[in-house]
Amino acid sequence: MSSSLPDNSLSLLRELLAFPSVTLTPNKGLIDRVQAILAEAGIESMVVADPEDERRCNLFATVGPQGIPGIVLSGHTDVVPVEGQPWTVPPFAATERDGRIYGRGSADMKGYVACAVMAMVRASRLPLRRPLHLALSFDEEIGCVGVRHLIHALAQLRPAPMLCVVGEPTLMKIGTGHKGKAAYRALCCGQAGHSGLAPRFVNAIHTAADLVSALRDAQRELAGHGPREEGYAVPYTTVHAGTIKGGSALNIVPAQCEVDFEIRNVAQDDPARILDRVLELTRARMRESQALPDAEAPSVSLVNAYPGLATADDAPGVRLLASWLPAGTGLTKVAFGTEGGLFQRQWKETAVLVCGPGSIEVAHKADEYVEISQIDACDAMLEKLTAYLTLAAQ
Ligand SMILES: [Zn+2]
Repeated sequence: MSSSLPDNSLSLLRELLAFPSVTLTPNKGLIDRVQAILAEAGIESMVVADPEDERRCNLFATVGPQGIPGIVLSGHTDVVPVEGQPWTVPPFAATERDGRIYGRGSADMKGYVACAVMAMVRASRLPLRRPLHLALSFDEEIGCVGVRHLIHALAQLRPAPMLCVVGEPTLMKIGTGHKGKAAYRALCCGQAGHSGLAPRFVNAIHTAADLVSALRDAQRELAGHGPREEGYAVPYTTVHAGTIKGGSALNIVPAQCEVDFEIRNVAQDDPARILDRVLELTRARMRESQALPDAEAPSVSLVNAYPGLATADDAPGVRLLASWLPAGTGLTKVAFGTEGGLFQRQWKETAVLVCGPGSIEVAHKADEYVEISQIDACDAMLEKLTAYLTLAAQ
């Protein structure tokens, strides 16, 4: 590990790609390196670890004055696994080819993390009149899990920041929103019995099938007359069953079946209300399919949830970010979740936006890459952002 400052964002990105910081595995090596870079630039940082595993941690650092609203650069340091994917380059190393840097996390989102760390280093040499904050997290990819510890630790940060830029890959467009998500597990219970006597026993897979049918009924209702939010590829709340597991042998009536499903809601929808409707539709389906009287509706537990993000297109923060980007940069709503919804819930007055280098189209896939021109574009935006922080606060 080098102790000196990287030359630029690209050379730091090359270093960061070499840390195999897969979700739920240690990211401490990466965080240590970032902490050393910041320390070299005279910036103190705070590490907030998972309470059960100190090798998985968040980092928070500030340059500039305290007591005045600043700007947060937010990124996650974990990456999704590479197993089973047909990589043609080493995933945990930087491969440069045709103006691109290949490697797991190059787009999602170590490119932005590298740019943000180098922006902190450059900002440390400027006479800032507003602070610049860096918030790096772990275990984002399994439902924004790690950052919750950091947000808890930042509860005392006053005043709240004026702007938070979450650098998930948007090809440097301005992301103003994403849907919220609630993930559920339904346990369907039946009675084991000989399949030759099948109608006498409650079949757990049949109950699960009623639930899945109800999910599709609910989706039809939401698509037909649920609230709409334009700007999304699918402009209404979506419902989907992802995995189903049940039964042990063909000649045994299954006693158990588990269904994992999710609700991705637009801002005006409440997942709890939609879940109630799904269960109501499930019971209706069970009645229709003449389930046995002792058949029970599935018991559903919430596995994970994060809130959506819906920043107004005309919020002052949007104009500000647009002023640091090329003229005509578009607004977009992103099709994936981010930590932005959680930051927004914590800091009600803060403009939370999603803007980062690279494309979500190549993320989570083999041979993930970021265009070097995207890293340059991100550096250019952050250059203007830090210059803004040197201006007198209005
Ligand atoms: Zn991401």
